[in-house]
Amino acid sequence: MTANYDLIVIGGGSGGVATANRAAMYGAKVALIEGKRLGGTCVNEGCVPKKITWYAAHMADVMNQVGPGYGFQDVHYQFNYQEFVKARDTYVANARASYERGLLNNGIDYIKGYAKFIDNHTVQVNGQTYSARYFMVATGGRPAVPKVPGHELLDTSDSFFEWQDLPQSVAVVGAGYIAVELAGVLHALGVESHLVVRYDRPLRKFDSMLSQALLDTMADHGPTLHAHTQFDAYRRRQDGKIECLYQGQVVLVVDRVIAAIGRALNSDALGLENTDIQVNERGIIQVNDQHQTAVPHIYAVGDVIGRPALTPVAIRAGRHVAEFLFNGAASAAIDYSQIPTVVFSHPAIATVGYTQEEAEAKFGADNLKVYTSQFNSMYQRAAGLNVPSKFKLVCQGPEEKIVGLHAIGEGVDEMLQGFAVAIKMGATKADFDATIAIHPTGSEEFVTMR
Ligand code: FAD
Ligand code: NDP
Repeated sequence: MTANYDLIVIGGGSGGVATANRAAMYGAKVALIEGKRLGGTCVNEGCVPKKITWYAAHMADVMNQVGPGYGFQDVHYQFNYQEFVKARDTYVANARASYERGLLNNGIDYIKGYAKFIDNHTVQVNGQTYSARYFMVATGGRPAVPKVPGHELLDTSDSFFEWQDLPQSVAVVGAGYIAVELAGVLHALGVESHLVVRYDRPLRKFDSMLSQALLDTMADHGPTLHAHTQFDAYRRRQDGKIECLYQGQVVLVVDRVIAAIGRALNSDALGLENTDIQVNERGIIQVNDQHQTAVPHIYAVGDVIGRPALTPVAIRAGRHVAEFLFNGAASAAIDYSQIPTVVFSHPAIATVGYTQEEAEAKFGADNLKVYTSQFNSMYQRAAGLNVPSKFKLVCQGPEEKIVGLHAIGEGVDEMLQGFAVAIKMGATKADFDATIAIHPTGSEEFVTMR
């Protein structure tokens, strides 16, 4: 027998849970289907355990790098990774439980299993069929692994969060957020860490000031960067270590290798061939600006639609669709421009709007004025360490409207959100200049640039 709903949400991650809860709040009869763990990538294998690991890395930095310079000497802490993992897992389990309570409180049917469309109106889970007036697909993605000999030896960000011990050495292959973040935390936690990128630098698409500052910091403080390096095979040695090879030559030998080369999308096992939903060659579900697929009653949000793959983006889009379907909102579209984002590198990177390179291509260099500022972070400098803090404002037109804001340095992760509000409101350089600085902070740089 087929159960009927107003809305069936496929995927219990950031986008799916947000859609389901918002729809149920307006009285819709909702089912949410999740095949693995409620909370999806962000809660279980992404933002949450990553950020907790970054905090641990920060503590290691304080104790090992900065603290001695402040007079905290001869302090020997024993870092017990298993205890740390226990604490992290407990936090994650609590977050998952609170998601489940939220669904329950909103009267949502939580169905455990993998959903597959059997036609435009019906999905099947564990042999049972379900139909609905509307569907939301928010099935996210999974780590991509290179199809090279020995790929089965590779870890991914998913399996990294299952480690119970830290290896002595690790190679992280990739050049995006995940590669930079994981190489950084492992290095700070005392693992010999190698970041392996196929071009000259990681984060190539970020403003060049940011990627260059990250390169400089890595050169001074680690992890070790291997630029213009690719591996085409991996081999396990008798002593358990992994050889990373290129054209038959061993290039690097490490205990573990993490592949962080991007994400494959969970659109391939959804039975989309039984529907009229369109998917491109990269597995991205095609939607219009209303998040509507080619089947008008089937919507999709989050990583699977190929827009910026960030939790708050998936949440915003899911809630908008629910507002549109069940609360009379005029539109299910969201504004995908000027999305602020932070890379939890060492130090952190914060960015919103156009990079200088993008702005030059869009507006022409003659229509831009770029302000920069840099100094050695007081926090580290007082301990005798040089870690750069760099700031940039990209301003457009005679009004000097701020179209890009970029920073790397201590504390920029918590600095960005407020500036992103100002930029969303159309702030100009003069607005920033009219604001009195907070001293001594890093953020004062943005209102004192000449
Ligand atoms: P997901 O959260 O991936 O959820 C999809 C869910 O669908 C999964 O639970 C999956 O099991 C389920 N599913 C898939 N197929 C089916 C099916 N057929 N039937 C039923 N269920 C199915 N973003 C940030 O904003 N900040 C960060 O700091 C950050 N850090 C990250 C760190 C890492 C290591 C990773 C991997 C990602 C990080 N992200 C971060 C990105 C963020 O996690 C994703 O953008 C976000 O989780 C996307 O949400 P989603 O709802 O689209 O998909
Ligand atoms: P990204 O797409 O950010 O980066 C992957 C990079 O790996 C590519 O840009 C490419 O860079 C490089 N690459 C691709 N293929 C290969 C290959 N075969 N060999 C070597 N390198 C390769 O993916 P991630 O997996 O890092 O992250 C996925 C998304 O999750 C991010 O884009 C982000 O949206 C989100 N995320 C957000 C975080 C945050 O908010 N802090 C943290 C983590 C993830 P190049 O072309 O330069 O080689």
